[in-house]
Amino acid sequence: MFASDLLARKGIIHSPKGNIRTPSFVPVVHPEPSKNLVTVADFQQEFNIDFIITSSYILRKRFNKTIKDLHELTSFAGPIMTDSGAFQSLLYGEIELLPEEVIKFQEEIGSDFAVPLDIPISLTDSFETAHEKVKITIQRAKEAPEISSKASTCWVAPIQGGKFLSLVERSAKELTQINFYSMFAIGSVVELMNNYRYDTLLQIILTAKKFLAPEKPLHLFGAGHPAMFPFIVAAGIDTFDSAAYSLYAQDGRYLTNTQTFLLKDLNEFPCNCPICSKTTPNELLNQPKLQQIQALAKHNLYVCQAEIKAIREAISSGTLWNLLESRSRAHPALRKGFNVLLKHSSILLENTPSTKKKGCFYVSESDSQRPEVLLHQQRLKNIDLTKRKKLIIFSLLANRDINELYSVFTRVKEFFKVNKALIEEFDFWIINDYYGIIPLELIEVYPLTQSVFMEKITNINRKFIIEDIFRRIKKWSYQEIILAGNLNSLYDYFIEENYYLESRRKIKSYNFIISNKHFQDLEFFLNSLIK
Ligand SMILES: [Zn+2]
Repeated sequence: MFASDLLARKGIIHSPKGNIRTPSFVPVVHPEPSKNLVTVADFQQEFNIDFIITSSYILRKRFNKTIKDLHELTSFAGPIMTDSGAFQSLLYGEIELLPEEVIKFQEEIGSDFAVPLDIPISLTDSFETAHEKVKITIQRAKEAPEISSKASTCWVAPIQGGKFLSLVERSAKELTQINFYSMFAIGSVVELMNNYRYDTLLQIILTAKKFLAPEKPLHLFGAGHPAMFPFIVAAGIDTFDSAAYSLYAQDGRYLTNTQTFLLKDLNEFPCNCPICSKTTPNELLNQPKLQQIQALAKHNLYVCQAEIKAIREAISSGTLWNLLESRSRAHPALRKGFNVLLKHSSILLENTPSTKKKGCFYVSESDSQRPEVLLHQQRLKNIDLTKRKKLIIFSLLANRDINELYSVFTRVKEFFKVNKALIEEFDFWIINDYYGIIPLELIEVYPLTQSVFMEKITNINRKFIIEDIFRRIKKWSYQEIILAGNLNSLYDYFIEENYYLESRRKIKSYNFIISNKHFQDLEFFLNSLIK
């Protein structure tokens, strides 16, 4: 693994047929070369695709007796995954599929990543039905090692359960104990995605992820539109297949990383890929149908590849959160999905590096759930904030005129450097809308002074911060408390809490607002501390 951010991992899966860069988008390819809108030769030369997936069901139906080698048939030299074919068998009413046959077939045709026979779960299945299907899928996965006879095939354990998270949990817990599998794959999500239930999808991924062996890659069967790629990757998906580039093209649909357009509605192409830069929507519409959809499929594939590259870069630079935040504004369903990730921010924290090359941008209220904010809260728990006899609370709450902490910090630091004795006397907290309490001791820790705040939080969230301040100052008997900066919201609370009356402590307040251009009041205030 080279880099991680949230639960996303940038790395390489080594396979005998070649390396797979992760996270990886795995195009669904028809085993019959003539049926593909983009040729397999193009996949490798033009699109730099590492890994493809194809359907066991079609392979069995059309080539059962004749097929010798999957790589020869598809002319793809790199690693190929096959699904178990269960989904299509179910769809087309094929009943007599035996687990042994499915395993032997995939090994015989030289599949590099193969899946034992699973039973997909439909959205309309009751819990009892889903439970039964999961039980059988797990049972078959346990029997697979006995049937398998070819060491060069990597086996992928299918995680079923659908929207029933307790079943997903059970699948993950039991399958992770079988050493035979080198990878896991989540199934039964296509219907959810067709219904825009990205929130449920992300809950499923996070649930599975929690119980799976972290060293093994996790695949998602049947991802859809590129707009959701960053979300599934952030939740911990390493590779995922999608046929969207081809399916959308067949319907005359043109993808962007956030939207879908009908070719006939476009005036110009909002893309500069080799297809879009050479033609116009109108010219393309005047071409024969097959050429049209082939061109659309190629463009769509460029969009998918460009998005996965953008995701990998975001992981390297530690900016995946920003990518999610911006993509989540493209569709309400994506926003709902993003909200699931917000709720599970503490899980995302585990893989998020504690220092990054780039700073943090706070552009919306949802950023108050960033893993970096949670990390700051955790650090606060581990240090003693209330040590000295006096406390200075310097408030930047609701200050719209200052959007970073560095300039405040440098001035305060300079001041205490000259007036060393005061450090022994005062606890000094800077109060900020997103991070809450920032004790002077911590302020040089990433990403506090590397943060830029574009948007202020609401009163509800601000109240949590003020309550936290109170909780802490009540624990310790300060001789003196000095409030400074923008005190409006703090003030109200002090009065509401009857703090002035209750305590016999000396409280002084200096209400002023500093801005990026105007620091005199801060300096004046600091100098007033020297008696
Ligand atoms: Zn294009």
